[in-house]
Amino acid sequence: MNNPITNRTVKTIGIIGGGQLGLMIAEQAHCLGLQSICLDPAADAPAFAVCDAHIVARFDDAQALAELCRRSDAVTYEFENVPGGILVPLCEKYNIPQGYRPLYDSQDRLREKTNAREHGLLTPRFAAVNDEASLLAAVRTLGLPAVLKTRTLGYDGHGQCVLREEADLARARELLSVPCILEEFVPFDFEASVVLVADGRQVVSFPVGRNIHRDGILDRCIVPADADPTLLDRMRIESERFMRACGYRGILAIEYFVKGNDIYFNEMAPRPHNSGHYTIEGCTTNQFRELVRYLAGEPLHRPELTAPTVMKNILGEDLEAAVRIAAERHPNVCVHLYGKSESRPKRKMGHITFVGMTEEEFERNWSDRFVK
Ligand code: AMP
Repeated sequence: MNNPITNRTVKTIGIIGGGQLGLMIAEQAHCLGLQSICLDPAADAPAFAVCDAHIVARFDDAQALAELCRRSDAVTYEFENVPGGILVPLCEKYNIPQGYRPLYDSQDRLREKTNAREHGLLTPRFAAVNDEASLLAAVRTLGLPAVLKTRTLGYDGHGQCVLREEADLARARELLSVPCILEEFVPFDFEASVVLVADGRQVVSFPVGRNIHRDGILDRCIVPADADPTLLDRMRIESERFMRACGYRGILAIEYFVKGNDIYFNEMAPRPHNSGHYTIEGCTTNQFRELVRYLAGEPLHRPELTAPTVMKNILGEDLEAAVRIAAERHPNVCVHLYGKSESRPKRKMGHITFVGMTEEEFERNWSDRFVK
């Protein structure tokens, strides 16, 4: 398929952001015989080890971004905080097939949840909060416990706090220096996510994973999620319907809370997702490859799970254990280390996919190898 702007065949994928997601997009571009070029401010960005070319520049360097776009036939982004002021003019001139819309809709939690509701998904009840008075009003309406979150730039549990009783409201003050959202606390049974890719003709979705977080960071993803298959089907169908209703193209990951039969939208990201890493070895095709196929204008493949799979995130504190496990060469234990130059506690350094393994087997045979 051609780049609609230059009318050239798509041969080079441009990636804004050179973290582990950029690295895995570049790897899958290679698997499809394509090249990649990546832009990141860090000279030692993980993706640079794999990309065919790279540009070291800040994300707000308009000239460098334009150069990335000129040297690419289709451009994508690997993180969701690319500012509209930068991306919109680029979208007008270059081939950035996902466009700015899904990013715009996901960059502000208030807009994101309003959009999810308007397009048919159930969300926790929520209210905008800008100061102490609106916080008190929101607490009166939603009750406690509730979760206060900054509307923008929150990730992995940063920029949020749970308010359990009136006394906690004082703690909330420091967040209130920026616009916030208060959400009803959902005492969920479990968390789950779906990754989807749409090309305007079809939407394909990957099997639902059950996600276990620790300190707000994804720790493990278990697939298939051990839940009522009808509910999991409904989650996939509702996600696909949502993606179509919004008119999004490209990749989208949606995170949910499940309580009884209710599936609550929590948040979304228009990029490959940590909870979708298991797809590299656990499915017949993976989230990165389908994103690249979409960017290259090729027909999407519908993924199937090949075996039960557990994905364990490797944060800095687990890096040594992961290196040891890699050296032991276990069959069907796939250790991905991202090659980040500095390891820190809570920093994502890699992940391990245990293919053909249930959660029980993981707990019995492997969980003791990692920090609890
Ligand atoms: P988020 O950054 O919104 O994904 O939140 C990080 C984690 O905090 C989630 O994965 C949940 O475990 C928890 N959390 C966030 N919002 C809520 C909520 N409204 N009710 C219950 N738990 C929540």
